Amino acid sequence: MTRFVFLGPPGAGKGTQARQLAAALGVPHVAPGDLFREAATAGTALGLEAKRYMDRGVLVPDGVVIRMIADRLARADAKLGFILDGFPRTPEQAAALDELLADAGHSLDRVVFFDVDEPEIVRRLTGRRVCPSCGSLYHLVSSPPRVANRCDRCGSELILRDDDREETVRTRLGVYARQTAPLLERYRERGLLVSVPAGGEIDTVHRALRTATGVAP
Ligand code: AMP
Repeated sequence: MTRFVFLGPPGAGKGTQARQLAAALGVPHVAPGDLFREAATAGTALGLEAKRYMDRGVLVPDGVVIRMIADRLARADAKLGFILDGFPRTPEQAAALDELLADAGHSLDRVVFFDVDEPEIVRRLTGRRVCPSCGSLYHLVSSPPRVANRCDRCGSELILRDDDREETVRTRLGVYARQTAPLLERYRERGLLVSVPAGGEIDTVHRALRTATGVAP
């Protein structure tokens, strides 16, 4: 069964890897950051509320995130598995996830920690560009689009996320260290944690991820 949580600092490559692995396994990639950004683009009340926090690099309140993830995991496509990317991010969210899964008679199979050092994270995030239309990710240095500043998939103009500016990246790293990193111990104690060296190239990290999760290449 594939009920995975991807844990790690912002910029560790969780999203890129989660998208690839989820597509290969045929399970949904569930990322609150993506869901909030979609909601913000659509101009919904949830999206506009979340954006106020995201733009500052701080976490959206637990209650809001937990409700959104509970709804998402209740959908039919998530019954047989999922990859959670960016949830849980606090002890309260981790407890809520345990409860949610237990109520459905399920449990987590693996928690993958993406291990990468801080200078590499800052380099990655400040060079990152995203497509506001289809969500494709690029990097100015390591994976530039074919045509400068245009999405390869849909041709939209790429943007720097507000929260990828350097000062906001520093805030997000502080939030990660204080609120999210303590979860590692919780999952280590339960024997669920596997660690993937995530400072290398996308394909190298992907191979390590498959080995760590026991997914055949
Ligand atoms: P990400 O795309 O995962 O880097 O998330 C972008 C932003 O969305 C974060 O900086 C938070 O403001 C918000 N966010 C994403 N996941 C969570 C979460 N589990 N709890 C609270 N806020 C979150």
